[in-house]
Amino acid sequence: MALAFDEYGRPFIILREQESKSRLRGLDAQKSNIAAGVAVSRILRTSLGPKGMDKMLQSPDGDITITNDGATILEQMDVDNQIGKLMVELSRSQDYEIGDGTTGVVVMAGALLEQAERLLERGIHPIRVAEGFEISSRIAVDHLEQISHKFDFSATNIEPLVQTCMTTLSSKIVNRCKRSLAEIAVKGVMAVADLERKDVNLDLIKVEGKVGGKLEDTELIYGIIVDKDMSHPQMPKQIEDAKIAILTCPFEPPKPKTKHKVDIDTVEKFQTLREQERKYFDDMVQRCKDVGATLVICQWGFDDEANHLLMHRNLPAVRWVGGVELELIAIATGGRIVPRFQELTPEKLGKAGLVREKAFGTTKDRMLYIEHCANSRAVTVFIRGGNKMMIEETKRSIHDALCVARNLIRNNSIVYGGGAAEISCSIAVEAAADKYPGVEQYAIRAFADALDSVPMALAENSGLQPIETLSAVKAQQIKEKNPCCGIDCNDAGTNDMREQNVFETLIGKQQQILLATQVVKMILKIDDVISPSEY
Ligand code: ADP
Ligand code: MG
Repeated sequence: MALAFDEYGRPFIILREQESKSRLRGLDAQKSNIAAGVAVSRILRTSLGPKGMDKMLQSPDGDITITNDGATILEQMDVDNQIGKLMVELSRSQDYEIGDGTTGVVVMAGALLEQAERLLERGIHPIRVAEGFEISSRIAVDHLEQISHKFDFSATNIEPLVQTCMTTLSSKIVNRCKRSLAEIAVKGVMAVADLERKDVNLDLIKVEGKVGGKLEDTELIYGIIVDKDMSHPQMPKQIEDAKIAILTCPFEPPKPKTKHKVDIDTVEKFQTLREQERKYFDDMVQRCKDVGATLVICQWGFDDEANHLLMHRNLPAVRWVGGVELELIAIATGGRIVPRFQELTPEKLGKAGLVREKAFGTTKDRMLYIEHCANSRAVTVFIRGGNKMMIEETKRSIHDALCVARNLIRNNSIVYGGGAAEISCSIAVEAAADKYPGVEQYAIRAFADALDSVPMALAENSGLQPIETLSAVKAQQIKEKNPCCGIDCNDAGTNDMREQNVFETLIGKQQQILLATQVVKMILKIDDVISPSEY
């Protein structure tokens, strides 16, 4: 096969080493690829929805992650198969673009693959299947647009945003505090949002965590926090209208280096040296006071004597602050980092409304809060929780909620969750199938079936009878012409997601359908897998 002959009958090789490569072709290739994709999506299926299960993943060096977030599960799972990796990418791209819906998109793709396999077995060409899926995804996306609702919110009325963020958080481990966390996320996003330009810079929101306390203690800080404390315990714990000198130069008398030789042979000489050192530092402190600084934040340390003097001269100071934090403080307070002491001037001071030190628990754990900063609108979400895993998962959940709030500010359209949007799309796609005369209509019907798999998974995960529940809800949607009927996962007594306040963003849902279709089309178009054989 890989051997050909030129016009003189001499053989030459087109593809080398065919024997040492494993190769799958045609339907076999498609089937094995589909099986791999479906296997990955099966893993995530049980994590979908408010009653979804969590996964515990152990990394090779023993770190444990407990999570419900699809992107994180796949990221940590160390998928080996190439098609499996495509599913990981799929979830990751949903995470980049939208932030939420990372499990749903993989479940959707898996369902499409399962449907595709059935069509291939019936002898329909993969290209026709791919085309049918493409047509259906366009129908579904248009339909979503039609059933979407706009809602109004303003800086004073953030309730609709909070409701949507609560839907996102309800499927996470932290759903116990979803109300307060959703409020924190929305307030944080509103603080940094530019409502006129409909833009949110999420970089301005820092998410920090510290083990200890309860989840309920999680708070939003209008400013930044630094894991440091005042250098002397008797320095003031609270400074109002702070003017901050940010130093990256040593803040102490110059020390004689080891290479230098200082001859001190009399008491007087020692006294003068000591006096001089003291004076040198005294001058430095005076200089800070002269330019008006009420707080010194320093990258370097200073010794106990200097510390004592600072306390005496009533100049609070923080030492050993890392470079990254210094930069952040400088940006937030509108100050300049001063690399040489002589360059300290009043304009270079950062300004903050309130700097305070807060102690946690019974340990000597203290943190510095820098609030009401002059320049920037940077905010910090400060998470407390019982252990590290909880804090990490809360960080991921807050990230999802922040993304949802941002998406809503960009585009305030919503669709109803709990599978309602998918069921409604499924009905629309099914109805459209009859208009297509070709083989595509089978693929379009299959797409409608695949859409049903999300509500089905939700019902299954909530302990309901999947098929019965789905058919009942579907019948209700058709009868009442109401696209808000979904799966009542929490046994709230109503199927109407409007009453349950289960909302999702329109762009998130559309993106899910588009991304899932793209990946499935890509997998279907592979008919030859050439890979290096096992050793
Ligand atoms: P994803 O990573 O895809 O966001 P989730 O585990 O967050 O996955 O589950 C999201 C799904 O759960 C969505 O389809 C959403 O509509 C649904 N859902 C969330 N909260 C509820 C609820 N209270 N009742 C019914 N469905 C819900
Ligand atoms: Mg979610």
